[in-house]
Amino acid sequence: MMGHVSLVGAGPGDPGLLTRTAAARLRAADLVLYDALVDERILKLARRAQRFFVGKRAGRHALSQDDIHAVMIRAAKRGRRVVRLKGGDPFVFGRGGEEALALQAAGVPFDVVPGVTSAFAAPAAAGIPVTHRGLSAAVLVVSGHDDEVFASAVGALEPSGATIVVLMGLGRRAAIARRLLDRGWPAATPAAIVADASRPDQQTWRGTIGDLASGEEAGTEPIRGDGPATIVIGEVAALDLTDVVSGFSRTVKEQRNASN
Ligand code: SAH
Repeated sequence: MMGHVSLVGAGPGDPGLLTRTAAARLRAADLVLYDALVDERILKLARRAQRFFVGKRAGRHALSQDDIHAVMIRAAKRGRRVVRLKGGDPFVFGRGGEEALALQAAGVPFDVVPGVTSAFAAPAAAGIPVTHRGLSAAVLVVSGHDDEVFASAVGALEPSGATIVVLMGLGRRAAIARRLLDRGWPAATPAAIVADASRPDQQTWRGTIGDLASGEEAGTEPIRGDGPATIVIGEVAALDLTDVVSGFSRTVKEQRNASN
């Protein structure tokens, strides 16, 4: 009998941000292939499953992308219910599209369970709405990993024409900011970095792209550690509505108490 593969988004970290469908797929799974960014409490939902780490650790991939495809396909053909669990949303820089194509080509039945992407949840966890009436009516979500890719993505934007959310850009943040300055973005444009969003060790830095370009001497306390981090650039990055949205991982009762 043919098995099945689900490409499942695990959200930014907080298990409370997992969808109900994601939780159901995990409970039904025999095999879970997960990445580095997935929270232990989420993995524990897959009680009956074998769990395999296939992500990147210390810069090295535990398994190549082709190997991941091969493992999923082989397991499904043996009748197993496989969950391929990814941080955030599987189709936002998660290589979920490639995995879906490989499954389709192999004739393996699969579905995709969207997740809460850190592109929006990380800013929100720091009290930053990515769009805001009067401040920003557009968002560009872009990878900061490669200078050419970043430059061509922002090349089409008018300076200050949209909120820019940069994933995988922490290590290149100064170069990213310099790119925008070169393209005419004002140095005073607000910027924020949100690291380990929705997790207990969440940190936020706030300043301007001028600060980022010069190495963040100005701005708030610098980000420490090497957790995943999202950069937000644009007028909205100066907003701090934390009191409104920090209820993420609190229970309804705690939120009620807090508001009393
Ligand atoms: N598919 C994922 C993104 C994968 S790329 C999603 O939709 O969220 C990995 C990047 O996501 C990291 O480099 C970082 O920029 C961002 N990221 C993931 N988890 C995060 C978190 N908890 N807090 C802040 N940024 C996070």
